[in-house]
Amino acid sequence: MRKILIAGNWKMNNDVDESLKLAQELSALSDSFDKNVEVLICPPFTSLYAVKRALHGSVIKVGAQNMHYEDKGAYTGEVSPLMLKGIGIEYVIIGHSERRQYFNETDEIVNKKLKSALRYDIIPILCVGETLEQRESNAERETVKNQIFKAFDGIEPSDAEKITVAYEPIWAIGTGRNATSQQANEMAEFIRSCISELYGSEQADKIVIQYGGSVKPDNAGETLCQPDIDGALVGGASLKADEFLKIINYAK
Ligand code: PEP
Repeated sequence: MRKILIAGNWKMNNDVDESLKLAQELSALSDSFDKNVEVLICPPFTSLYAVKRALHGSVIKVGAQNMHYEDKGAYTGEVSPLMLKGIGIEYVIIGHSERRQYFNETDEIVNKKLKSALRYDIIPILCVGETLEQRESNAERETVKNQIFKAFDGIEPSDAEKITVAYEPIWAIGTGRNATSQQANEMAEFIRSCISELYGSEQADKIVIQYGGSVKPDNAGETLCQPDIDGALVGGASLKADEFLKIINYAK
């Protein structure tokens, strides 16, 4: 059975004190987390070390929102997988649409980052998803398939199954307009079929596929109960402990 992963992407929010406060609030609630759900928070880089230390011994996992693909070198302003590994980071979000859109992250860069994260045993959360124009012109499947095929290029089957995929339609991120549970599940199913085409059905069955895009306490249950959806990548609603808790406990 696949795990359920509820991940909070804090984006460029919360300084160190605010991050510690939110992490501690969540940690204090962790006894009431649904035991079938793995919980992950992804604070900004400046807070990672402090939050990771504060959550020592907690069930809450800590991830980064991005990384460079090189181990070290002359890449001013970048953070390497080696540095993340050094502070015990377990997950990293790769290819978020905001990085693709504002920081020119291409499918080729995404592919390099995935390989690099896997080399250091950091679980990548690969984000894919179409724009509104692409959906309105019925190009969403072609878009997502292209992203998946390029992202997984040259990745061995034993590594491929470690990758979590987050289906995040760009038109649903931060807009308050989430995909219907049917749209989300259809695309998750389609992503699984793309993985199956690349690696076979056994491998595809193992891949954790999240939905992301305006997930809130009042819509989480319906979306996350769909058969091909194994959790959520949550932006805005992960910034408040009580809202995030309701999403974690969507099935309760
Ligand atoms: C995200 O940042 O990945 C996201 C899905 O944001 P929001 O939940 O705010 O739409």
